[in-house]
Amino acid sequence: MAGHRAAVVGSGPNGLTAACVLARAGWEVTVYETADAPGGALRSAEVLGDGVISDLGASVHPFGVGSPAFEDLRLAERGLSWAHPEIPAAHTLDDEPPALLHSSLEQTAAELGVDHDAWRRLIGPVVAHWEEVRRAAMAPPLRTFGHRSEDSVVARGAALARLGLRGAWPADVAARLFRTPRARALFAGMAAHSTVPFSHPLTAAFGVLFGAAGHATGWPVARGGSQAIVDALTGELEHHGGRIETGFEVTGVRRAPGRLRRTHLISGRRRGPGGGRAVVAEEAVDVVLCDLTPTQLLRLDGLELPSRYRHALRRWTYGPAIVKVDYLIDGTIPWAHPDTARAGTVHLGGSHAQISASEAAAARGVLSGRPYVLLTQPSAADDSRAPAGQSVVWAYAHVPHGLEGPAAQRAAELIDAEIAVNAPGFREAVLARQAWTPQDLESMNANLVGGTISGGMPTVRQFVARPALSLQPYRTGTEGIWLCSSSTPPGGGAHGMNGHNAAQAVLRALG
Ligand SMILES: Cc1cc2nc3c(=O)[nH]c(=O)nc-3n(C[C@H](O)[C@H](O)[C@H](O)COP(=O)(O)OP(=O)(O)OC[C@H]3O[C@@H](n4cnc5c(N)ncnc54)[C@H](O)[C@@H]3O)c2cc1C
Repeated sequence: MAGHRAAVVGSGPNGLTAACVLARAGWEVTVYETADAPGGALRSAEVLGDGVISDLGASVHPFGVGSPAFEDLRLAERGLSWAHPEIPAAHTLDDEPPALLHSSLEQTAAELGVDHDAWRRLIGPVVAHWEEVRRAAMAPPLRTFGHRSEDSVVARGAALARLGLRGAWPADVAARLFRTPRARALFAGMAAHSTVPFSHPLTAAFGVLFGAAGHATGWPVARGGSQAIVDALTGELEHHGGRIETGFEVTGVRRAPGRLRRTHLISGRRRGPGGGRAVVAEEAVDVVLCDLTPTQLLRLDGLELPSRYRHALRRWTYGPAIVKVDYLIDGTIPWAHPDTARAGTVHLGGSHAQISASEAAAARGVLSGRPYVLLTQPSAADDSRAPAGQSVVWAYAHVPHGLEGPAAQRAAELIDAEIAVNAPGFREAVLARQAWTPQDLESMNANLVGGTISGGMPTVRQFVARPALSLQPYRTGTEGIWLCSSSTPPGGGAHGMNGHNAAQAVLRALG
């Protein structure tokens, strides 16, 4: 294996994970990153003031904790530690206490009253077989074998069947298993992580997986900020001799001429001393792994892709976007119900029916007057994020793709209003605030196309064909060019599994 050279384009969790796997196998690896710092949508920064650590993207890690990719890289030995809030998630309800997703399946079910048995029947079997289900869900769907050799076809099939029986339905249908608005709302808040309308098949799988993760592993944050995951990954990469070139935007990938045809030439722009960008000399590598989404892959100069693959990339849809607001709070959010303050994640936006309607509106391109809002309060688990007596929070709303101008500002105000309704005195407690429109997010990270955060909508088609129908979804069809971003299986989320699976596929192909 040693002697190979790889370039990784983009340093999100998937690019960094792929780079680590190859560097550990003895490859010479360079990661190219447009931004001034590595990490993509896993970075943290002091955007609200000195000593206030806000996560620019991912903050809560139900699938990062225990991720086979991160475990394999032993990130704990590089300083990563998880901090668990007392309660994984709360769902605020109008005029009554919130519905709570506890670590305990039994406690959660018990608090749902007449829906006790329904919750246990839907989520319990997945919790009982969590490791098998998670491994199966994180491998490419069309592969018969999991990425670990001990996964037999039968074991993987059984794990997928366990999830499929409960998750293949539309979330609107699965919600009918519950009799109370409380249980339906709790389920809806988790199913909405999909960003897919609840009338679509497979949306229930998000409710089941996020619920089961809460009971099996919790929904922790990374102590010190999600940046701690990035730092652990970069530490591992550099330990194995890998390099990261920040401030370098890759603009082209083309084959070397003549006898060197198996080599690829990377070209790009580096930020110059005056802030301008200069075209830089091309570097030759054997393999290129792209932590990019389809739109960006299609834009790379000189990249020859098979026409069938290009066609699949052109058909790719990204779905609804987000508008995000970061807050620094004096104390903690003054929630009307104190249990809400004990949760690391809070879902807002009303009942199952209201969330179902607002999610469908966002997908149709309409901003709902009451959008679904997902709020994280990492300070509930980790007191290192802000000076004593203060806490950090971010909240985002699902909005139409590419929403801009006054409508995007209005979406940010709707987030403020939704929190304030559930926490009287919230506005007075805000010490600092920064809103991010879809354009702001995409300017920060080109992968967040139109303000979307999961590399492409996980509809049934884009779950099976991610991004094209193939037993080898990480291959682009052009020799030496691979895709490793969240636009490949298993989709969005800061777990590094796309990068891990892609790098393992590269090693198998070249081994
Ligand atoms: C606001 C927000 C909140 C989120 N919350 C959560 C959460 O709580 N939990 C969770 O699990 N997930 C969450 N996610 C999703 C998660 O962050 C992403 O799914 C994950 O980061 C995807 O990783 P990636 O490596 O595929 O891409 P990214 O993290 O997007 O990284 C891609 C990188 O490639 C770089 N790049 C792009 N084009 C080029 C180029 N031409 N040349 C060089 N570099 C380039 C970008 O600058 C970027 O650094 C959130 C995302 C956002 C934006």
